[in-house]
Amino acid sequence: MCKHHGQHFCCMYLVMSMTVSMTCLAQDLDCPPSQPELVITANPTSRILNQEEQQLPSEIQALLIAYSDSIKSASKHTETQGSLVFKNNTKHAWERPKQKYDLFTWSKLSKVEQAQIWKQQGFKDFDHALNHARLAEQFLQLYPHTSQLPKDLPVNFEPGRLRDEVFFKKLYGRSKAEVAQQLTTVYWGKQKLKVTRLHKIDQRLQAIYTDLKNCLPKKFKRYYEPSAGAFTWRKIKGTQRLSVHSFGAAIDIGVKYSNYWKWTMKVYGRNAQGLIPYKNSFPVEIVETFKRYGFIWGGWWYHHDTMHFEYRPELIIDKQ
Ligand SMILES: [Zn+2]
Repeated sequence: MCKHHGQHFCCMYLVMSMTVSMTCLAQDLDCPPSQPELVITANPTSRILNQEEQQLPSEIQALLIAYSDSIKSASKHTETQGSLVFKNNTKHAWERPKQKYDLFTWSKLSKVEQAQIWKQQGFKDFDHALNHARLAEQFLQLYPHTSQLPKDLPVNFEPGRLRDEVFFKKLYGRSKAEVAQQLTTVYWGKQKLKVTRLHKIDQRLQAIYTDLKNCLPKKFKRYYEPSAGAFTWRKIKGTQRLSVHSFGAAIDIGVKYSNYWKWTMKVYGRNAQGLIPYKNSFPVEIVETFKRYGFIWGGWWYHHDTMHFEYRPELIIDKQ
């Protein structure tokens, strides 16, 4: 427990002249991880990059580190474009986003400016980008590094929700049968969950469960147990896009206490500005426990899905 204010994070006090301000750091979850070697925020070095690779853009370096079980190498043709080579020798083109936006810079954009960004990236609008995203759009919005959970999110701020589906199929398998070859069991309390063993996702989830159980007070148990499932080969409801659950790389927890943007709209309607109201009841301790093992949270999306966590360490590693 943090001695200063009773949270389960230790916070660093910054003393600046006469004022004292407090910063909570994500890595300061004040409970040692059960599997420190799997903590992505402390050891983003599961793959040592050679000199040439260190010249690649930060996003591509992050992909090499994050997915070393699947990606063999990467090269650049220009400063903004290049290709990845997978272990089975298939290739995948990469391109950098024209610009990258964090939560603050995205929140300052007008509707017109947002529309221009999707056009610059080569799409008609946001929905077009969402349905046909490439690696460039995957990195366009930065996953927040703060351990302060949002109270509100700007329109279409969705770090990690835009995914290059072809890239994911190359990572995990192109069909249910191909993905199934890599599935194994994780024990989530009394439940058995099917997840992929690629990228040690099974071991990471097992460590997350252990840490949730050992580090957090009992009152938080309702948020992570039971799980509402991990692997299912399925499309996201109402779309043609495959869910990350199809790859055995995502988990849903605490359905009873979760908020999903479609449910939020049904219950509350749109707000006075015509926007989807933001709702969340998950505590930061759960989100941070997942984050240190490389899992992003669906609660950081304007189209929020707070029960959802998926393995996307490249977004946590990439800081530029
Ligand atoms: Zn989910």
